[in-house]
Amino acid sequence: MHTWPLFPVTVVGSLPRSPALLNALRRKQAGRLSAAEFAPIATQAVQEAVALQEQAGVDIVSDGEQWRDNFYSFIVEHVDGVRLMSLAELLDYVENKAAFERLLNALDVPAFAIKNPVVIGPVRRREPLALGEYQGVAAQTTRPIKIALPGPYLLTRSMWVKRLSAEDYPTKEALGNDVVALLRAELLALRDAGCAFVQFDEPVLTEVAFAGPHATHTFMCAALSEKSSPEEELSFAVDLINRVVQGVEGIKTGLHVCRGNWSRQESVLLQGAYDPLIPYFSRMQVQQLVLEYATERAGSVEVLGDLPPDKEIGLGVCNPRSADIESVEFIVGKVHALLRHRQPEQIYLNPDCGFGTFAERPVNSMEVATQKLRVLYQAAEVLRQEYR
Ligand SMILES: [Zn+2]
Repeated sequence: MHTWPLFPVTVVGSLPRSPALLNALRRKQAGRLSAAEFAPIATQAVQEAVALQEQAGVDIVSDGEQWRDNFYSFIVEHVDGVRLMSLAELLDYVENKAAFERLLNALDVPAFAIKNPVVIGPVRRREPLALGEYQGVAAQTTRPIKIALPGPYLLTRSMWVKRLSAEDYPTKEALGNDVVALLRAELLALRDAGCAFVQFDEPVLTEVAFAGPHATHTFMCAALSEKSSPEEELSFAVDLINRVVQGVEGIKTGLHVCRGNWSRQESVLLQGAYDPLIPYFSRMQVQQLVLEYATERAGSVEVLGDLPPDKEIGLGVCNPRSADIESVEFIVGKVHALLRHRQPEQIYLNPDCGFGTFAERPVNSMEVATQKLRVLYQAAEVLRQEYR
């Protein structure tokens, strides 16, 4: 059984990649570097990422997603029936190309740099998605480990592009069944290997909650496939995640929802409080919700008081996209506000999101990321004195 102190410090997933790793990743993608040649470079990067987190005082560590191009595209390497396409390539297949292009520009999204997995055949797990990553971190540390996996809703929505996928999956619901099986198998494999915490990333849920069926979509996937009403979409998301985690014991499960992490320009990122999502969060059978609260965009923690009393919160208390380092007082203040609604042992401290969600677009340097993690640790120590 894993143990950790009160107010454990953890990460949402990614850390920036070193220039050497990025270079190797590009060469691998271009077919100029084999998987075997890439492995020692990624292993070295993971070693550094883990050491950095340990030195900063992170209690539950990740591998910094150093093997991945981004937090969901990496699955193409482990699954048959899926092809990676840049947003620029996808432009040829979306229904309204001009609108999609305008949207990418308005949102400050580099269409060439962000790649999306698309279903082009039956989805079959060729090998585990992240078990190898877990084993790579476990070889470097005795600390408990968190592995982030793409959420079932994100995967289903982003991978199903009608013109390319409909032959094998006439509806996104049909694809959802295979995605659930894929993720549940992975969750069980990680649990059996000793992983402490699996976090499912569902960054598009806020967009779904705020946008009507015909409103402007985020680039990530909403523009790519048809969408029903927000209520239907969110119920679909609840159903998918519950089928993945239902009855699985012996591992902590979490769900991460943010508002985009592709730009340092706050104004282009989604905003809005979590209120509309609370009824859906309440029905999700994950133990923890990993939410962003470091910027004003996410509103107040007061809405979390409406969640069932057993839900833990991974509280986002530093902005991964800014150069300013949050103060200990700021972080402690956020936790104090949440303590009106949760017990001390239900609150985890983490950044709002990853520091390098998209390999080609890190939102911070390793130096700043480390400083931010260190302040999280300092704040945790203050809180531990107060609540031990
Ligand atoms: Zn995020």
